[in-house]
Order: sequence, then C-alpha cells, then structure tokens
Amino acid sequence: MSKNHRVEHYETIIIGSGAGGATLAKELTENGRDVLVIEKGEHFSSFGTFENLLQYHDASNTNKGLRYSQEGVMLLRTYMSGGSTVVSCSNGMRSLEKELADLNIFLEDEFTDAESELAISPVSEHLLSSGSRAIRNASAELGYTMELMPKFINQTRCSSCGNCIAGCQYGAKWTAIDYLEQARSNGATILNNTTVYEIMTVNGSVKGVRVSSNGESRKILADRVILSAGGLSTPTILFRSGIRNAGSGLFCDTFVNIYGVTSALNQIREIPMALVSRDFYQKEGFILSTYITPMNISRFAELGPQSLSVPLDKMIGLMVKIRDERSGIVHPDGSITKPVTIEDQTKLKKGISLVKEILTKAGADENSFLVSKYQGAHLGGTAAIGEVVDNNLQTEIKQLYVCDGSVLPVAPGLPPILTIIALAKRLAKTLH
Ligand SMILES: Cc1cc2nc3c(=O)[nH]c(=O)nc-3n(C[C@H](O)[C@H](O)[C@H](O)COP(=O)(O)OP(=O)(O)OC[C@H]3O[C@@H](n4cnc5c(N)ncnc54)[C@H](O)[C@@H]3O)c2cc1C
Repeated sequence: MSKNHRVEHYETIIIGSGAGGATLAKELTENGRDVLVIEKGEHFSSFGTFENLLQYHDASNTNKGLRYSQEGVMLLRTYMSGGSTVVSCSNGMRSLEKELADLNIFLEDEFTDAESELAISPVSEHLLSSGSRAIRNASAELGYTMELMPKFINQTRCSSCGNCIAGCQYGAKWTAIDYLEQARSNGATILNNTTVYEIMTVNGSVKGVRVSSNGESRKILADRVILSAGGLSTPTILFRSGIRNAGSGLFCDTFVNIYGVTSALNQIREIPMALVSRDFYQKEGFILSTYITPMNISRFAELGPQSLSVPLDKMIGLMVKIRDERSGIVHPDGSITKPVTIEDQTKLKKGISLVKEILTKAGADENSFLVSKYQGAHLGGTAAIGEVVDNNLQTEIKQLYVCDGSVLPVAPGLPPILTIIALAKRLAKTLH
C-alpha cells in the first residue's frame, strides 16, 4: 500500500471475506500480492450462543427479525468476518461441476485442493443420534438411501451440540476465517466494520471503491477490485457502479424443515444435516437431509409460536431442499422479490410427502407434523456467468471481477461453499 496525499492505494481490493473473498485473499497473498480486504461486519471471536446468533445474522428488515423476501421467504446470511461460512452446517460437497464445465470452467484441480485443505470427510457413525439412525433404517425399508454427509469438521473436536448455525464454539468447523487469518499472516490488510458503497471507474476501468465506516465516507484506490459481498449485496454494489443488469435471477435453494414427535427418539445432540439422500436430486430436483436445531430462537423463527410447545427431546426432522427457479430479483434499493413458483411448490410438496412417509415409518406420530416456513440460505445467481460476468468472472468494467455465490449460473440444490472456493482458486490463478 502506498500513501498519496492521504489517499490509500492497493493493487487488489477484495470486498467481503466469506467463501469467495477469503479464499481469494489467501491465494493472492500466498503469491505475494498486495491485498486489502474490506469487510462490512465485525471480526467476532465468540461463537455458538443465542446472543452470537443475534449479533451476526442479517436482520435488516428488523420488524420481522430476519431478512425476508417480499413474498415471505426467509433469506439467511451473515455480516461478519468469514461471511456465512461461519454459520454453515459444514456440508462440503461438489456442486454444479457439469453446469460449469458446460461454460468451459473446469474445476477438478481446485476442488481436489479445497477438499484436502478443508479435510472433508463423511460424518462418523458414532456421531449419529438415535433419531437419524431410525430415519436411515426407515428410508432403507422404503427403498431410499441416506448417506453420511461429507463435512468440513474436525470430528474429534465436535461436541455434537447441534448449534452449528450459530458458529462453532469448539473450533471444530472450518470457516473462511481460517483462510482470512492465513491471508493476514501473508501480509493482507483487513478492514472490518467498513461498508463498500460503490466501485469508482475511469474510462471503463476500475479506479477504486467508495466506502463508509463510522458514518464517514472515503475513497480507497486500487488497480483491481474483486466483489465477493455475496448473492444479495454484490448486485446492489454493481447497480450503484453502473452495471444495470445485475440483480435478476436470484435463487436460494428454497427449503422447509418437517418435524414429527416420537415416543423416545430425538436428534438434538447431533451435527445438523448429518445424513443426506440424493435419490431425488436428478429427476425431481431436491435432496432430503436430517435436520433439527436445538436453539429455541431458530425454531421460533421458522415455526412461530407453535414451536414453544414441541417436545424437543422427542422430535425427529428432515429438510427438503430444492433446486429453485431463478425467479428472484434484488432491487437497486436492496429490497428482494423471491417467490416460491408453482414449479418450486410442486417439488417441495413431493418432498414433504416423502418426508412424512419416512418420519412415520421411523416412529413419528402422523398427526404431529410441523412444516416450517420457506427458507433459503444458498443465495446466488444475481451476477451470473454469461450474463453479468464472463467465464473469467470479469464484468464489463475492466479489472472489476465478481467471485461469490452471485456468479453461479443456476441453483445448485446442493452445498455451494466448495464450488465458490474452487471458483476463487481458479480466479486467483488467472490473476497471478
Ligand atoms: C445457516 C446457513 C447454513 C449454511 N450451511 C451451508 C453448508 O453446510 N454448506 C454449504 O456449502 N453452504 C452452506 N450455506 C451457504 C453458504 O454459507 C453460502 O452460500 C456461502 O457462504 C456464500 O459465499 P459468498 O462468498 O457468496 O458470501 P458470504 O460467505 O456470505 O460472504 C459475503 C461477505 O461480504 C460481506 N459484505 C456484504 N456486503 C458488504 C459490503 N457492502 N461491503 C463490505 N463487505 C460486505 C459480508 O459481511 C460477508 O462477510 C449456509 C448458509 C447459511 C446462512
């Protein structure tokens, strides 16, 4: 960084420190590049509690607690160092390999590299709860397969508290903070609590960014900017920077959780999403995965007041997660349209009826089922490859790149973190 009349200048500015941003920061600094990471959220060091959850989950339209689309879909993400990876369920699966290869983006080497760095391995049998075992047996009797989910968790450190979505207090889970800290020790500068408002340009090329922190606005100059602010924030920054076709085509891998009451089984002391069925992925466009959160606040958010009366120690649950249509729009003012289309509803209904069949066979009372609100946590498609960026992830503004969930061309319906990391590793190679 050089100071020039008190104006800061960096070779590369990365906006956001989640899956895309932190990976780029690590990869570029490993090759000696001069990098500034600008992160809107705080650098937290305490995770896993109810209070922590409230600190970093995006609750921008606060009258409803969390962020919702205008049609009522709950959209989950965080503002913090490490982005939404910190609250992930640590599912580490390849997704969209074929769709990206069709766009001449081949990620085999990058996937292999990421899988090794994140030490991905299937959930250990001994960490499965009685509820999940019963669900697996019931599924097998009905002719469906439940596999052990591949995770980026150091399972010897996992306490099976089940609170992954509040961050891991035992340090068992990989998060993008791990990459961010490697970038810091390689020499990256990291600015927290600083929001990027727009990209500044001159003659169609990047000049820098305009940021605000503590109510003050300032400019930071750069030769290159990489936007990794996530599927909802990236398009609003692009709009303000003059790229008008960003924001449409939002997907979120819409999901619902279905819970049933049993006489003795439960899943409370378990990593969420420990088992997954991909039997219906190719033909029907959805997956099923064991899911229950022990946190009252999360169950209240998705089920409302009826969540207060459920006997947590006797509940089992499964999630239905679909490859939704790219039907949403992030508007220039940040408001979000995201309906659940007729096609999406058809997929969800089919999944819910399969789940009820499985849970009943596993021992749940068929009159006890509760179905959550529509939710989405895989936000993307709003600056898609082939629409807003080319297949090197560059925008129409020279030296302005996007690398996060927004560039994904279709809904994965599977965990996106590994794919976003692989794309970031590929981009870093082209920028060396
Ligand atoms: C509860 C939950 C569980 C999940 N579980 C899994 C899972 O098990 N496996 C999986 O693969 N995926 C999971 N996901 C999805 C996954 O976390 C995201 O898809 C992924 O983190 C997206 O990466 P990203 O780089 O697009 O954005 P993010 O990781 O969200 O990072 C964006 C960053 O940009 C920052 N930012 C935003 N606006 C600005 C601004 N204006 N200026 C500066 N900084 C800004 C944010 O604070 C954030 O740090 C889960 C998501 C949630 C919410």
